[in-house]
Amino acid sequence: MTQINEEAVVNESGLNFVEQEVKDDLAAGKNGGRLSTRFPPEPNGYLHIGHAKAFLMDFGVAEKFGGTCNLRFDDTNPQKEDMEYVNAIMRDIHWLGYDWGDRLYYASDYFPQLFDLAVRLIKEGKAYVDEQSSEQIAAQKGTPTQPGQNSPYRDRPIEENLDLFMRMNKGEFDEGSMVLRAKIDMANSNMHFRDPIMYRIIKTPHWRTGDTWKVYPMYDYAHGQSDYFEGVTHSICTLEFVPHRPLYEYFVKELADSSYCPRQIEFNRLNLTYTVMSKRKLLQLVQEGLVNGWDDPRMPTICGLRRRGYTPSSIHNFIDRIGYTRYEALNDIELLEHSVRDDLNKTATRVSVVQNPVKLIITDYPEGKTEIMKMESNPEDPSAGTHDMPFTRELWIEREDFMENPPKKFFRLSPDKEVRLKGAYIIKCTGIKKNDAGEIEEIYAIYDPDSKSGMPGSDRKVKGTLHWVSVPTAVRAEVRDYDRLFAVPDPSSYDGDFRDVLNPESLIVRDNVMLEPWLAERAQPGEHYQFQRLGYYTVDPDSTPEHLVFNKTIGLRDTWAKEMKK
Ligand code: ATP
Ligand code: MG
Repeated sequence: MTQINEEAVVNESGLNFVEQEVKDDLAAGKNGGRLSTRFPPEPNGYLHIGHAKAFLMDFGVAEKFGGTCNLRFDDTNPQKEDMEYVNAIMRDIHWLGYDWGDRLYYASDYFPQLFDLAVRLIKEGKAYVDEQSSEQIAAQKGTPTQPGQNSPYRDRPIEENLDLFMRMNKGEFDEGSMVLRAKIDMANSNMHFRDPIMYRIIKTPHWRTGDTWKVYPMYDYAHGQSDYFEGVTHSICTLEFVPHRPLYEYFVKELADSSYCPRQIEFNRLNLTYTVMSKRKLLQLVQEGLVNGWDDPRMPTICGLRRRGYTPSSIHNFIDRIGYTRYEALNDIELLEHSVRDDLNKTATRVSVVQNPVKLIITDYPEGKTEIMKMESNPEDPSAGTHDMPFTRELWIEREDFMENPPKKFFRLSPDKEVRLKGAYIIKCTGIKKNDAGEIEEIYAIYDPDSKSGMPGSDRKVKGTLHWVSVPTAVRAEVRDYDRLFAVPDPSSYDGDFRDVLNPESLIVRDNVMLEPWLAERAQPGEHYQFQRLGYYTVDPDSTPEHLVFNKTIGLRDTWAKEMKK
């Protein structure tokens, strides 16, 4: 799979190819000039960023050309579906800024009409009940170059088909013992035409229709008909449905006439490096406890991205950048990361946090003295102003910002060297104290009283600037440091078990992180901050004033921007 050139995805009028087709249909007066789309999730899992690409198109194109978009739950398999998923899906669509108004539908609403149409097709000799096992049916399918074989049940009398189908639905037969198939063409070069299955027996009660039905329609039979019943004009989906399109049209023609007929258009799925999009695999990660639920911040789910700190506009921008094409592609996760960094850079409040603290003591600074330093809250947004941060004799700094025997280009703190403490003074290291294990316990320094930031004559330059937090007022918090879920760029094409290539270091919990007091007092779940020099962080929904918890959204270093400059 290849990365697609961004320029290729929109035409001279700034429209992608789907929008252009919709525009052309409207201009040609098709369907009476009406535009109606739908987003059809199956409520068998949470939505991921690939689904976001789909519904941004469905809702977006309707909005752009004055049409409407339905939300339709494709609830045709009671064995896998659940109300929990329905609610989560609605919440995630709303979060990304879309609403279906009063157009909330369920494929199960159409079970009666679908059943009636099946009965009609049986009566017209276009469908039959097959009593073979699924293995036998598969064995007769043939290959794309070899025709299939007819089922021995293919030509049974219409009356017998009708009787069996009715009894299938009454629950007289076991699951898997028979199916209803469309009688089309076992030699067709399109495999989907080789007598596709229309209905199978499922005895699990349905969460909406209870035990009214014992037969449930297959996707290919239900989808186009549901589009038709709702008056959908453009049924936009992903490229894997291209070979299904003739069958979609075959079934729809049983209902439609020249005045109105839904049309299927396909675009490329979103695939992202270092993650998986298969709902089956994501469910497996959740059920086996390999992640902490669907909204684990490492998941590509919309709720996971939200918890991680992604914003709606960062997701919109990312989808805009990758665009819609007719070619499968694998998109770099760096571009998604770039999008959130770009967005948070403009809006996130800057704060001082020390994630791996070691104590710095300024030996010539008076004990008990506190100075209030004015810290800029967001250099990208002057209206954010400043906030106060106390400066004292004892400070926390990052352990990594000190080296006893530094290499040449180390511009942070080391013996006899000077650095600036951000927004405060220049200090010079005078010594250290180690514990019995040889670890550094305290670092000692003296300060230059004439170097206070912002004061006249304070502009003496030193190479390094460190962030810091005052010891007596620091508030301890937990930070969950997230990295990519998988250790390899394309886990879906890994030969072995995809779980073997999970990144073992995708979560590091730090429970001794020191916050400046201003942050500790104001942090509310869902808020975004830039921890100076460390990255962007978001307050976790589980965070409380007594136990503050932050999720790392993304580091500061922009690998995507670097790539683009090459
Ligand atoms: P499955 O059908 O295997 O359960 P699915 O991911 O296709 O999984 P659906 O609920 O059927 O799940 O998806 C709803 C819509 O989202 C479909 O129209 C589908 O084409 C689209 N979609 C799913 N995955 C992606 C993706 N990675 N990129 C773009 N669109 C996607
Ligand atoms: Mg699907």
